[in-house]
Amino acid sequence: MKILILILSLSFITLSSAQPPAFDQDQAFAYLEKQCSFGPRNPGSDGAKECLKWFETTLRKFGAEVYLQRFEAEEALTGVNRRLTNVIGYFPGGSSSTLMLCAHWDTRAYADRDPDPEKRKTPIAGANDGASGVAALLEIARIASEHKPPRNLLIALWDGEDMGRASYAEEFGLGSKQWAAHQIPEPVDEAILLDMIGDAELEIPIEQNSDVNAPDLRRRLWSIADRLELTAFADWSGPSVFDDHVRLIRAGIPAVDLIDFNYPYWHTIEDTPDKCSPESLGQVGRLLVGYIWGVE
Ligand SMILES: [Zn+2]
Repeated sequence: MKILILILSLSFITLSSAQPPAFDQDQAFAYLEKQCSFGPRNPGSDGAKECLKWFETTLRKFGAEVYLQRFEAEEALTGVNRRLTNVIGYFPGGSSSTLMLCAHWDTRAYADRDPDPEKRKTPIAGANDGASGVAALLEIARIASEHKPPRNLLIALWDGEDMGRASYAEEFGLGSKQWAAHQIPEPVDEAILLDMIGDAELEIPIEQNSDVNAPDLRRRLWSIADRLELTAFADWSGPSVFDDHVRLIRAGIPAVDLIDFNYPYWHTIEDTPDKCSPESLGQVGRLLVGYIWGVE
């Protein structure tokens, strides 16, 4: 009888502790600052080489299976041929379904929207445009190292997103295009893209390509945001953005882009960590944790 009581009380403890893991927004912000500490991470830069090594080490430390997808492409913005690398961290889960979470890690070679013409050939720090989405995903990877995800989790960090000339959409999103053509280590069932989610004044409207092509996933995410009272998620339609998710949608994968495109420092040398906040990363991170591990 004593044994039975012990078993019952143990199962009670297990049940009562079954709440979603916590997303540590300060840790996520430290990952944003760490990326920026390498300097600009535009293709071919020293910062990119060092940061790439750090991604690999960090994801391995979290127990992910790591795949480096290498390819070459012309950087239309500079006219230079570049060697590029997508970084994939894979966490096997408790079912056969696979969720992809992704963000681009490269930063733009030129601050071509800087108000000062003298600075328009300077590479950007990319605190928001690049580092923010990756920072939230590395914190998700850290959580996945402690809490096995219910589904397989494929975290993709894209290279070659920001190499295009303004107004030439097809010159952007080269890493996701490469992955869509060679889906390693396995195809995915759906995808969530994070881009420019670090803005201290974060507001994420409904992105149009996501809403048209992945309406169910889009609605599920906004309904979780509502339940968790994540005020950064706005219930109005924002612009239609050509981003990495379009490459996935074209490959038949339902994909939603979480993006705040209203950022005055976009493609300027002022895109630095002080324009971003841990709270903003926390809004998006809690949404992802709620979606992956469930809402209380
Ligand atoms: Zn950009």
